[in-house]
Amino acid sequence: ATADLGVFGLGVMGANLARNLARHGHAVAVFNRTLARTERLIERYGSEGDFVPAADLKDFVASLRTPRVAIIMVQAGAATEAVIEELAALMEPGDIIVDAGNTLYTDTRRREVSLRERGLHFVGMGVSGGEEGALNGPSIMPGGTAESYDRLGPMLESISAHVDGTPCCTHVGPDGAGHFVKMVHNGIEYADMQLIAEAYDLLRHVGGFTVPEIAEVFRSWKDSELDSYLIDITTEVLSHTDAATGEAFVDIVVDAAGQKGTGVWTTQTALELGVAVPAIAEATFARAVSSSSAARAAVQAADIAAGTTQTALTDPEERRGFVDAVKQALYGSKIAAYAQGFDEIATASKQFDWNIDLGAMARIWRGGCIIRARFLDDITRAYAENPSLASLLTAPVFASSLATVLPAWRQVVATSATTGVPAPAFASSLAYVDQLRSRRLPAALIQGQRDFFGSHTYHRTDDVEGVYHTLWATPERTEEKWD
Ligand code: NDP
Repeated sequence: ATADLGVFGLGVMGANLARNLARHGHAVAVFNRTLARTERLIERYGSEGDFVPAADLKDFVASLRTPRVAIIMVQAGAATEAVIEELAALMEPGDIIVDAGNTLYTDTRRREVSLRERGLHFVGMGVSGGEEGALNGPSIMPGGTAESYDRLGPMLESISAHVDGTPCCTHVGPDGAGHFVKMVHNGIEYADMQLIAEAYDLLRHVGGFTVPEIAEVFRSWKDSELDSYLIDITTEVLSHTDAATGEAFVDIVVDAAGQKGTGVWTTQTALELGVAVPAIAEATFARAVSSSSAARAAVQAADIAAGTTQTALTDPEERRGFVDAVKQALYGSKIAAYAQGFDEIATASKQFDWNIDLGAMARIWRGGCIIRARFLDDITRAYAENPSLASLLTAPVFASSLATVLPAWRQVVATSATTGVPAPAFASSLAYVDQLRSRRLPAALIQGQRDFFGSHTYHRTDDVEGVYHTLWATPERTEEKWD
């Protein structure tokens, strides 16, 4: 046995992960279902480090030093399931199988139980940063046992991105914790992208700015709390001109956003856990609306009276003010979106006994991944100061920012409504903050309605322990106390 670990699946991600490991001095066994990919990897990049290629799965497993570590990087679902089975059949108690694909955390939990019964460690591992990250330093979110992390962690930390000398990799928690955190990372990414897109749309259609002018606005936000990779690439995309037509690139792209499912998972899971993630849900719905071509065409053809009250701003001072207001709305919405994502992680962590260090999650997202941003330092600090924060909104740094941005944020949402330039994630994030702020919610009325039609009972404000039901059908509407 000569290899420190192995990578099964040498597609875009697997090959780059294997190269990254080899470049960092780890001896990497490599295997792929189709041998040609293995041969191509060795031919092109074999000189980058110590690769141990295998044509046969038995040889691949035999080449791994014990306890063995095999990282699977194949399509999620049936392919991953099949490969886990093939590997497990050849491995011995104490060995570690790592699924580095984008797997739904419930699948990871199920597989972890079944492999644990066979004496194997199963690690569900989130890897963010796409193919570039896999090669040059991703953000890595491994779950599984602490024992498996002892063996695996140092190798992963060596290849992950580093920020201020700290690796963007840490042990997230048991079983599905790693894949869960990766899922929410992607959900937050959906929200962040949608919020930026709404800011662009408002600047264009309310602010009356041209695409290159908006690119410059985003570029200027780099020197602010909004500084992030997504703002950087937004600037790049908006600055790009289509070679064929000379038009702004953003104007020649069909406005139907694709998705591979992690936004849906994050939203679905939040619904199951009873956590509100409206910014993530709106972002996912917005992609769905954008792709509803038949409904869009029909509604446009129907030319439904819009009743909008404003066209693009013309007064230079008003336009400058609007840019600033949009910036504040974006920052407020971003705080709300991250608060929602962290709430989802905190809730799952409690439910599944994962004991996830929330500040550490923000820390390992600072580099390598799509949502990397200066802002994450504030989140790490907020949890360091108070690990049991019930909501990120209450961290002093965010509470004071919210107080500052809320007036402008309200104005922007109101403007969106009156002009008909939609900003669903801005609006729902604002409503989220306002709901949490409210001393009394109309949920009390909903409880009354539920009790009326379904005897669903309610608690009284003067006796929160007691369970009450009103006999709505009686003329007296007598109230009963139920046990
Ligand atoms: P690719 O399409 O580039 O590669 C797929 C790999 O899976 C190939 O090696 C293929 O082998 C193998 N494979 C497929 N089916 C089977 C099977 N039944 N048995 C054995 N091997 C199989 O995919 P990516 O590298 O892009 O993605 C891999 C995983 O990484 C996915 O789960 C993806 O969600 C995740 N991921 C991808 C990111 C990205 O940016 N692309 C980012 C983060 C995670 P063969 O050569 O024989 O066809």
